[in-house]
Amino acid sequence: MLRPKKVEITEVGPRDGLQAEPYFVPTKEKIAMINSLIGAGVPRIEFSSFVSPRAVPQLADVTDVLAGLNRTTHTILAALVPNARGAIRACEAGVDEIIVFMSASESHNLKNVNRTVDESLAGFDDVAKIAGDAGIPVHGVIATALGCPFEGDVPVEKLSYIAKHYRELGFTGLGLGDTTGMATPPVVQKAVRHLQDAVPELPLGLHFHNTRGIGLVNVMVGLDEGIENYDASFGGMGGCPFAPKATGNICTEDLVYMMNELEIETGINLDKLIGVAKDVERVMGRELPGQVMKAGPRLQLHSMADVATASG
Ligand code: ZN
Repeated sequence: MLRPKKVEITEVGPRDGLQAEPYFVPTKEKIAMINSLIGAGVPRIEFSSFVSPRAVPQLADVTDVLAGLNRTTHTILAALVPNARGAIRACEAGVDEIIVFMSASESHNLKNVNRTVDESLAGFDDVAKIAGDAGIPVHGVIATALGCPFEGDVPVEKLSYIAKHYRELGFTGLGLGDTTGMATPPVVQKAVRHLQDAVPELPLGLHFHNTRGIGLVNVMVGLDEGIENYDASFGGMGGCPFAPKATGNICTEDLVYMMNELEIETGINLDKLIGVAKDVERVMGRELPGQVMKAGPRLQLHSMADVATASG
């Protein structure tokens, strides 16, 4: 399989990143962040979630955020939806795309949404119907697809079982979430090959966390398998800052930098994206894990006069 010449990067920071924060980021700051992402040419943004405001107060302003965004034809604005109620709200608000998710492992799904895998799948019937009537496409994500903290390795047959249901529901995209950063190159390769064989008509996207430092390595495996869709978060946000083992998504600027060096087109302006990450860092009031935002691209050269000479 040849590496793609072009990929679609989805910025998930406004949802995956901000959801994990203990504090509510003001609506106007969220709108400014997302509009800057649109201005940087990001083709798809997971901008928020239509979850219950009681369950996730950080994203309670989802409708107001959407209303403040600069809608353009080059950026898809996608929102997470947990159930039929959320789907109705998302359709009324006018999102471009709906994302539903469930965990591949029974124990993680029970812990996360208090449903078995089959109960989650049954619940998506209504979401598919509501979105279908509104003419809004749905992407289905499988969380803990590449490893579950309670069950360990996830059998690939479990992934294709869920993916085939998604296909029957008329979903137009499939995402694999490495929610707790357990993916490794052989795990990614095996899952991707299995799904490309089982559901070849569903475009596959990969969502990696950098929990064990090999997020971008896993992207390289995806590229070599021909995958064209990747999620990432500005500054590498995501995961709870107070939970030592939960670290962030792969970082969008670092990912775009790598794609640029591989001559794979993203449509994203890296300088502008680094500017967004620095703004987000300022709003969050702490250092974010992103690395290219600190070091700059490798050929951004420095004046020799600015660098101290080593003595001795
Ligand atoms: Zn994530």
